[in-house]
Amino acid sequence: MSEIKSPIFQIKNVLPILKGRIPGQVIIQYTDSCNALCPQCSMRKTEAYDRSKLPEEELYKIIDSAAKQKIQALSFTGGEPFIYEEKLLNLIQYASQRNIPYIRTGTNGFMFKDWESSDFKDKIHHLAEKLANTNLRNFWISIDSAEAETHEQMRGLKGVIKGIEKALPIFHQYGIYPAANLGINRNTGGLGKIPMEMTDKEAFYGEFKEAFQFFYQFVMDLGFTMVNACYPMSMEATEGSQMKAVYGAESSNSIISFSIDEKIQLFKALMDTIPKFRSKIRIFTPLVSLYSLIKQYQGDENFSLPCRGGIDFFFIEAKEGNTYPCGYRGKENLGKFYDLNIKSINEKPFCKACDWECFRDPSELIGFFIHSFKNPLSYKNKSLKHSAYVKLWKEDLKYYKMCDYFDGRKPMNNNREKF
Ligand code: SF4
Ligand code: SF4
Repeated sequence: MSEIKSPIFQIKNVLPILKGRIPGQVIIQYTDSCNALCPQCSMRKTEAYDRSKLPEEELYKIIDSAAKQKIQALSFTGGEPFIYEEKLLNLIQYASQRNIPYIRTGTNGFMFKDWESSDFKDKIHHLAEKLANTNLRNFWISIDSAEAETHEQMRGLKGVIKGIEKALPIFHQYGIYPAANLGINRNTGGLGKIPMEMTDKEAFYGEFKEAFQFFYQFVMDLGFTMVNACYPMSMEATEGSQMKAVYGAESSNSIISFSIDEKIQLFKALMDTIPKFRSKIRIFTPLVSLYSLIKQYQGDENFSLPCRGGIDFFFIEAKEGNTYPCGYRGKENLGKFYDLNIKSINEKPFCKACDWECFRDPSELIGFFIHSFKNPLSYKNKSLKHSAYVKLWKEDLKYYKMCDYFDGRKPMNNNREKF
């Protein structure tokens, strides 16, 4: 397996950055079928609608086109993509052969719940070996709460936490370092630990801070070496808005619905917790992105950088296989991905309609490169006016480098100890 460096630091990617483009990312919703019960998601198995899975021939065409158009990051998501494990692995292998450098997928962990069965270890060895034979770079496992019972109850997957704990060392033996993927919710620190409505800002901030601390400690104790946080995705489409989810991973359930004032406090709590854990576990979440979201929600509309959805990042949904700027701008059908000429898109980024970290985090972190390259004055202005922003941005970049750019095929190194 050849070593992969961060896309932004490879020479071949500097040119597009100079032209105002950042390394491309495509998220393919392979299927909207799922076997879990998460209250925070519209794809849970109890939702009654016809489920879909993209045909393999269609996916091979998409992967070919992504490779040809130099897409750097390709994610296979769901639903639960591992329901179709063999086919999923073939797709990952195909994308590997097409030299797409950042291939990612993840699971709700249903395969870990039978940890007491006699063939559990053999099954995990088998899966880890098959994943290791591809160029899969990042493999995430969703975890919703610092309490095992709460997570299992939310997902409807009893026993899964014990299974994850048993499976992680096996994955590590094969050089696969899964990331814990937290979908921020009111049970993050444990059942009922965060009230359904904020009455006191300071108390709410403190409760979330404690929840994030519990959570990071919990996943480290399970054996994870990497962790990410998905920002809350409740959606309320207003009349005339372009928002209409084609991705089903959103919900209006109060467990993940937060008012703007609540979001400010929870983002602050996350931002203040991360530095304490950065030396102990690799944390994807860039501080500069949280800082910008806080400013945006405090009313400074122009502060955060606009999202690259529909310009450099795309979402392909499972039903028809059509492409959208993201999973949430469902009124903007861009057609088949292999008919799109990404290079010819000359729209300027503008959207800040949601907090989807898959698109918002890199738009902020890498987007600032473009601003700095294209207009050195904007860098200077931001440095002068917002030295805290630039300081965090530099720290994030340094941290990313120290974490081998979150290479999920490498163990943790000791570089992060300086943080
Ligand atoms: S969040 Fe994931 S695992 Fe849970 S119901 Fe939705 S698609 Fe399934
Ligand atoms: S901010 Fe990005 S992910 Fe969210 S709706 Fe806009 S383009 Fe989509």
